[in-house]
Amino acid sequence: MSSNKIQHLGVAVGSIDEALSFWRDGLGLELKEIEVVADQGVRVAMLPIGESRIELLEATGEDTPVGKFIAKRGAGMHHLCVEVEDVAAMLADLKAKNVRLIDEQPRIGAGGALVAFVHPASTGGVLIELTQRGTGNH
Ligand code: ZN
Repeated sequence: MSSNKIQHLGVAVGSIDEALSFWRDGLGLELKEIEVVADQGVRVAMLPIGESRIELLEATGEDTPVGKFIAKRGAGMHHLCVEVEDVAAMLADLKAKNVRLIDEQPRIGAGGALVAFVHPASTGGVLIELTQRGTGNH
């Protein structure tokens, strides 16, 4: 079971427009697109950097995962996404190693990619998203 790269880094922000004044206008990253992931209640701004990308995550309401995160901890680093060859196989592997999972099965994330989340309690405190290489349109 191998992991290939950091596919993206998710940053929870109060406002994508305000955050772009640093990430796009300051750092000079290109804003490729903004996508709404309705079932997660989040707007995602995608800014490619090298072979991965920064994702700015803006909640569409308070009662959403990112809305609750910001209410509890403030804006900031939200999750790290690692690309793997087979999300379902990785989940089975991690489960066998007693890693605490948020998603027992892969589901559809931004861009139609197959994704699953691993609980921070098992990772050193960082929410980890697994995404399957070759799925989704990004
Ligand atoms: Zn993500």
